[in-house]
Amino acid sequence: RLEEERLDANTQASKHMLERAEKHLAGGVASSYQLRDPWPIYIERGDGQYIYDVDGNEYFDFHNGFGAMVQGHNNPAIGAAVAKRFPLGTHFGAATEDGIVVAELLAERWGLPKWRFTNSGSESTMDAIRIARAYTGRDTVMKIFGSYHGHHDTVMVSIGVPYDEIGDREHYASLPYGGGIPQATVEMTIPVPFNDAGAMERRIIELDAQGRKPSCVILEPAMMNLGVVLPEPGYLEAVREITNKYGIVLIFDEVKTGLTIAAGGATEYFGVKPDLVTMAKSLGGGLPTGAIGGSDEVMRVVEDHTVYQVGTYSGNPLSMAAARANLEKVLTPQAYQHLDYLNERLLTGSEAIIAEYNLPGYAVGIGSKGCVTFSPSKIVDYESYKATQDVALTELAWLFNMNRKIFMTPGREEEWTLSVVHDDKAVDAYLECFTEFAHTITR
Ligand code: PLP
Repeated sequence: RLEEERLDANTQASKHMLERAEKHLAGGVASSYQLRDPWPIYIERGDGQYIYDVDGNEYFDFHNGFGAMVQGHNNPAIGAAVAKRFPLGTHFGAATEDGIVVAELLAERWGLPKWRFTNSGSESTMDAIRIARAYTGRDTVMKIFGSYHGHHDTVMVSIGVPYDEIGDREHYASLPYGGGIPQATVEMTIPVPFNDAGAMERRIIELDAQGRKPSCVILEPAMMNLGVVLPEPGYLEAVREITNKYGIVLIFDEVKTGLTIAAGGATEYFGVKPDLVTMAKSLGGGLPTGAIGGSDEVMRVVEDHTVYQVGTYSGNPLSMAAARANLEKVLTPQAYQHLDYLNERLLTGSEAIIAEYNLPGYAVGIGSKGCVTFSPSKIVDYESYKATQDVALTELAWLFNMNRKIFMTPGREEEWTLSVVHDDKAVDAYLECFTEFAHTITR
């Protein structure tokens, strides 16, 4: 079936664009994550819940720019804010009132008083880790096996792909994700399994005995790069207790969860408060924007200049105008009700199809995020993902969707993100496609 289901019909303009792009755009794309077999799809425009590629194909967009576009493409409220800001100047390298309002709104939603801005998720996690290191005076960083926190050296360790063919946990624990990452940095990052607070505490005790107590634990409260892996009941509470007990800064990386799952992100949803939170993606209304929020105590190292948290474009006026409109006008309580309604339909609809056709998998999601995980048993961490995810079926489902104009996030570790302008038509189209998929593979 994988051979029959090829991404070649009606995407020839993208194929030709790759040939042209490869001459001067390294690898033909702006970021390696935009690559896809057999060629990337080049996009011309987006409108609401739809995107249009250079061949003129219209897709329901379930990718939504890796989850950044939860407000939908061309959102009029964001457009109006950006249009209003543009004639007043787009960059000063100085603070604007919109930035103050965004910080106020985030403080209210997350219950964390102090904020700073960045331009991406990677910058947010890089700075948050530096803040934690300065605050504790320690270097070691604890993360979760297989988790992704951006592309700076410290966190490019023990990420799932492409090393998932490697069998042994100890081995992949210490692998950098690609070249150019110093071994000394790799050795400062210690991964532990998700959903296992006992393993985390045991590792902290071991490291402490070696004089290497971690400065921080950085984790996504719900893992979003193994499909969707939810925290088991009590796990986040236990992590909070352990990090408090050993004086370790707890960083929730909410770059993906953030504004996509609830008004106050995973912090509100799960009711566990970290010391620092990192955000990006869904914050900026489609403009490159990131943020770090924190307690008064930990963020003092920024305020007293122990840590230089800086950036030419941080708090960029255009980004701040878009983020303000996003928070004030788009991501309202009603918007979250709508996202919950649609996601519930997608998840229960998918579950019904899985049951009817007896597929090896289950549907899982939260807020605007979700996926069908093709695995005969529940995935709770990277180890179980690596052992049980049906790779061929996952890739086939992606191709099947693409060929039927359901644009899913490329990558078998990804999930869908709905936007506030998605509607029942999009859900119906997805479920219809999934039914056809189930029928095709079981017939
Ligand atoms: N943290 C998480 C949880 C992410 O999923 C990502 C990106 O996918 C990042 C950080 C990095 O964000 P960016 O790509 O904006 O640098």
